[in-house]
Amino acid sequence: MVNQLTLIRPDDWHVHLRDGDALDTTVPAAAKYFGRSIIMPNLKLPVRNVNDALFYRQRILRHRPKDSQWLPLMVLYLTDDTSKKDISEAKKSGFVQAVKYYPAGATTNSASGVTQLERLDPIFNEIQESNLILQLHGEVTDQNIDIFDREAVFIDRHLRRIKEKFPELKIVLEHITTSQAAQYVEENDQYLAATITPQHLLYNRNDMLAGGIRPHLYCLPILKRDIHQKELIRAATSGSKKFFLGTDSAPHVSETKESACGCAGCFSHHAALEFYAEVFDQADAMHHLEAFASINGAQFYQLPLNKSKITLVKEPWTIPEEIPFCGSQLIPLAAGMALNWKLRLP
Ligand SMILES: [Zn+2]
Repeated sequence: MVNQLTLIRPDDWHVHLRDGDALDTTVPAAAKYFGRSIIMPNLKLPVRNVNDALFYRQRILRHRPKDSQWLPLMVLYLTDDTSKKDISEAKKSGFVQAVKYYPAGATTNSASGVTQLERLDPIFNEIQESNLILQLHGEVTDQNIDIFDREAVFIDRHLRRIKEKFPELKIVLEHITTSQAAQYVEENDQYLAATITPQHLLYNRNDMLAGGIRPHLYCLPILKRDIHQKELIRAATSGSKKFFLGTDSAPHVSETKESACGCAGCFSHHAALEFYAEVFDQADAMHHLEAFASINGAQFYQLPLNKSKITLVKEPWTIPEEIPFCGSQLIPLAAGMALNWKLRLP
């Protein structure tokens, strides 16, 4: 039985740090585990160009713990007005790694998102030429498409076409939630990969909806049936290079989730790596955790692996019921639950 695992320090390829006071909590939490984090650009005023990204990066770095080498990797938010120049300047900057597509209205702070994906073809072409990464929030937002089907419809309606038209565009399908997404990515070429969150590996929609509604498990794309959860676990723990860690950790003060119209997003950075360890251990796949957490993402983004290492030990502990956040508190993912794995702090 494995009781300890040392691995190359992992990276988080999808996180929401927010801004302002939230950075007091989110930046040290990210720096505790990760070498680098891909910082989502959906602020209230989205990160639309290199200047926005530069200033946001500076605000983030002011909160980095003194002894930390952690680095934020910045992302531009695609809007209907994104220009080719925005993309070429992003590439030149050296600190912007990717460009994120949100369909307008898909999730938290996505009101400035793209209204018609086809109109972005010249921009996709520029992203391909620049060798930046295109990150997709892969859901359609039509009111007549059931919320549980929105990811699968996005793949059929949009992703197949983008793949055909831009065969060498490097695409990450973010936070996949369905068997259709896992299989599509798996069967596709080396230009397509996917991130998987801890909540979509640990839970299915019964956990959120049966026996009472649990707003702290509400995230987007929404948790699906258990057959999809099983397929995600299989994909993540399979050893395939096409899947890697992206927590999608997204804090909200508890009042905004425990509400008549609650916000989407789960905060998981209190146990970011332990959650994955739990899943890999249960799947008898601890030997694949390092590739998923520390290698596959860096290789896809064409970045060097981190030099430092971290160690997980098998040591039971209980997740806190709440965490102070922005003068209030947030309810962390799996609050009050016991975990078997723990990061050993130096
Ligand atoms: Zn996200």
